[in-house]
Amino acid sequence: LTVAAAGEGAAAAPPKYKDPRQPVMARVRDLISRMTLAEKIGQMTQIERSVASPDVVKQFAIGSVMGGGGSVPRPRAAAEEWVAMVNDLQRGSLSTPLGIPIIYGIDAVHGHNNVFNATIFPHNVALGVTRDPELVKKIGAATALEVRASGIQYTFAPCIAVCRDPRWGRCYESYSEDPEIVQMMTEIIPGLQGDPPPSSKGVPFLAGKEKVAACAKHFLGDGGTQNGVNEGNAMTDLHELLGVHMPGYYQAVIKGVSTIMVSYSSWNGRKMHANGDLITGFLKNKLHFRGFVISDWQGIDRITSPPGANYTFSVEISVNAGLDMIMVPFDYQGFIGNLTYLVNHNFVNMSRIDDAVERILRVKFTMGLFENPLAPLHLSHHLGATEHRELAREAVRKSLVLLKNGGALLPLPKKVSKILVTGSHADNLGYQCGGWSIEWQGLSGNDLTTGTTILAGIRAAVDLSTEVVFWESPEKSAVAAGGFSFAVVAVGETPYAETKGDSGELAIAEQGRSTVENACAAVRCVVVLVTGRPVAVEGMVAQVDALVAAWLPGTEGGGGIADVLFGDYGFSGKLARTWFRSVDQLPMNVGDPHYDPLFPFGFGLSTEPSTR
Ligand code: BGC
Repeated sequence: LTVAAAGEGAAAAPPKYKDPRQPVMARVRDLISRMTLAEKIGQMTQIERSVASPDVVKQFAIGSVMGGGGSVPRPRAAAEEWVAMVNDLQRGSLSTPLGIPIIYGIDAVHGHNNVFNATIFPHNVALGVTRDPELVKKIGAATALEVRASGIQYTFAPCIAVCRDPRWGRCYESYSEDPEIVQMMTEIIPGLQGDPPPSSKGVPFLAGKEKVAACAKHFLGDGGTQNGVNEGNAMTDLHELLGVHMPGYYQAVIKGVSTIMVSYSSWNGRKMHANGDLITGFLKNKLHFRGFVISDWQGIDRITSPPGANYTFSVEISVNAGLDMIMVPFDYQGFIGNLTYLVNHNFVNMSRIDDAVERILRVKFTMGLFENPLAPLHLSHHLGATEHRELAREAVRKSLVLLKNGGALLPLPKKVSKILVTGSHADNLGYQCGGWSIEWQGLSGNDLTTGTTILAGIRAAVDLSTEVVFWESPEKSAVAAGGFSFAVVAVGETPYAETKGDSGELAIAEQGRSTVENACAAVRCVVVLVTGRPVAVEGMVAQVDALVAAWLPGTEGGGGIADVLFGDYGFSGKLARTWFRSVDQLPMNVGDPHYDPLFPFGFGLSTEPSTR
């Protein structure tokens, strides 16, 4: 009778973990005490959207779903369709016995670059130039709103790599070669997640329904690999590893970052995904990081060569090294089966599993996911909102670096009879957004999303009486005969992401070089470089009157560039990267012996707003 009565009483009271008045850790512990091994391993499993369904989420008690670049419900899907997709999967998790919500993650790395009509901000290489932490904090807040507007609660950003070699294909995802600038830019984290209370060191913090969980990546030394090889090997002593690549993580942890992603790269030959000394010994034990550590996409497979050669071994080594959530992302049954086997045979201790699950649940409770598992529809007006586009335009203006201004050509007059706009990048929204824009590798052309090309920005900026002629790649004779007052020539790199962007030449496309030659030999010209990094331009500098580094400015690039070219605002950006003379100098970073750059770190001419 007593037992039955107690049982009835327990059944009547809602479980502690469902009570929002309980402290987060009390809820976490209560929930873990109710979970089976299968439910715990499910929490540690992140699967890709294409293999996810409400049934799969329910059957395997999946903890997280992700949709990488290009993984959209359909091209040009509206925010509402994204919300419906995420909520549909969420209903699968809510119908499990314990009803633990999934967290949906995506690469919103320069704004919500996955969704049609979202604001695409300049890539990090441009933001580093601004050295403006308040600006990136606002960008974080705007990005969080746009990501939430699509029903998603988690972004794999910011990348806090310290890119030491521009030959690396991910250099544009890095704010700077300088660890101090990277640290400063971690202010994007409280923008994305909200401001943590002062005492929260190491504890993930996430405020409210309009914020998203952030992910500092890729731990550790991704930007320091030999010859800038993506997923390569950083050959440094511990002193340099900790001095150059670690400080950003220290800041991120202090600022309450919810998650940290491990790097594909190796440090002195040892794969980071297997490096328990740095993940557990350093990040968790020394830096007191209390959020969860996530693998990169198939990152555990890549511990072995060839990838996946001994998957059971990969699971054992990486989970024991301290990985909490695994971005599997496709063969979740293989992962779950292997980890179950490893726990049942004591190759992975239950205490390690409980630590991983505790960290994941702590983030989910902290962000209020249990109280608000389903995304609302009413945020969709934030997607591509005017205020966000204005903010992106401001970021473009502040990130432009004026490298040469012969004869004080800039600022340009708005009222002349005729100007030429030319070059492969002058009317190409895809090129100015770069990689990680709608698709992983980026796109070419103007219909990927909404925004303003350089040509459109110039047309909107000049006086109505000024004729703007656009020729993509004119002959010199045509330019000479055209009677133009000046030319704006936009050339650069075409989009790439990750390994595809690794380059030993760092040259702009051949067509771009001939356009510069033809235009600048015939008329006064300003060349706007649309690139993810410094490129080889030593030969070009003498040919041009003015030279501007515009980086990858995103959807508002055209407006922001025109604002500054035509003097509504002055140039103020200072290089956050060393601009090399020739690729055989690389790697070359500020402070190196024999530092002999074309334009040094910190360089940038300024102009006053014009009154013309
Ligand atoms: C990249 C990560 C990214 C992940 C998910 C990987 O290839 O290295 O930066 O977050 O894919 O798309």
